[in-house]
Amino acid sequence: MSDLLPVVEAQNRIRAAFAPVAAHWLDLADALGRVLAEDVSAALDLPPFTNSSMDGYAVRAADLAHAPARLRVVADIPAGVAPERTIEPGEAARIMTGAMLPPGADAVIPVEDTQAEGDSVLAQKQVQPGDYLRPRGSDLQAGEVVLRAGHRLRAQDLGLLAALGVARVRAYHKPLVALLSSGDELVAPGEPLGPGKIYDANSITLASLVAESCAELLALGVARDDPAQVRERLETAVSQGADLILTSAGVSVGAFDYVRAILEQEGRLTFWRVNVRPGKPLAFGAYHGVPVIGLPGNPVSAFVGFLIFVTPAIHRLAGLPERAPVTGSAVLEEALESDGRESYLRGSVITVDGQTSARQAKNQSSGNIYALSQANALLIVPSGVKSLPVGSAVNFIRIGNEGE
Ligand code: AMP
Ligand code: MG
Repeated sequence: MSDLLPVVEAQNRIRAAFAPVAAHWLDLADALGRVLAEDVSAALDLPPFTNSSMDGYAVRAADLAHAPARLRVVADIPAGVAPERTIEPGEAARIMTGAMLPPGADAVIPVEDTQAEGDSVLAQKQVQPGDYLRPRGSDLQAGEVVLRAGHRLRAQDLGLLAALGVARVRAYHKPLVALLSSGDELVAPGEPLGPGKIYDANSITLASLVAESCAELLALGVARDDPAQVRERLETAVSQGADLILTSAGVSVGAFDYVRAILEQEGRLTFWRVNVRPGKPLAFGAYHGVPVIGLPGNPVSAFVGFLIFVTPAIHRLAGLPERAPVTGSAVLEEALESDGRESYLRGSVITVDGQTSARQAKNQSSGNIYALSQANALLIVPSGVKSLPVGSAVNFIRIGNEGE
């Protein structure tokens, strides 16, 4: 097993081979899910002016010290309008939520605590200076860094940027990931299945994982087990400017494993055996200068390989910070066995009363895609460990939907 590369070493070597793609300016409307290439600082205070948090009356708090008190209503201040008049002792202005506090006033009394009487208003309660106000800069102050480079923009971040008047951001391009499946046995879903054939499960799985990451897909289809066809598809990826070529199958020791052979002969093969289960035959190299990650053909191996080796590469290309794939720790409800390779076993985790427990799927075969679909976690048995007893802690990577 000594010629198997440790997982962490493989991850480090892969990550080191990538650098973030170029950045460009883009409109907020196109920026959801994109990764900021530079810090953004606020050019404004938020809120930009002190305003009312209620519909009511802008007052001088001292006037209401002996409430109830009658005040003369001298102005009407809707949202979006700059008040023109200073509020003098004994005066009030009708004010709407979000409208600017007029000079002289230091509080708002909500309309519910008042009674309108012609040109005046009866304030029924006291207020303290600052009541029902949203002071200028109370959310954030001009000059603060509000979002950092490397942050992936969510809906609420775009809202913040819009509130600050930012119309465009500098973000990384989406890395272009070319995807090539290979194998004479593969048939596209929807087509008749001949003898000895299987449906191509990996193309859609891997394309979907690319779509979920912050990358763009260049779909290269399925190549037959024919070196000329594999080569031709790899050439397409290079000419289209792919930042990463991802292949499925053809990297093992079989007589028809042309992907690895082509990398070895016409490109570069950095390593192709990793101390991982499932997914030992994982190739990393380059073809005409473009990095290639060759995932194993077995669907579970391809999926696991993507999560632990491709995701870090895409994150690096996309400008995202390094992040460990482990998402939690659980208590084992049953013992786990492994062969000493770092293992990613399909399983389920469940949290009851704050206690998260885990059990593995019955079938751990790397071709068993049903068990993968039913799992909500990959349970990790570290390298060199052959069994984890019941009740011990196990790290896991969550693969279920939110809350599943
Ligand atoms: P290989 O890496 O070519 O030796 O393939 C390993 C196993 O994965 C074989 O059983 C293949 O039939 C299977 N396999 C390869 N590609 C796919 C695919 N796209 N979808 C489903 N199974 C596949
Ligand atoms: Mg094959």
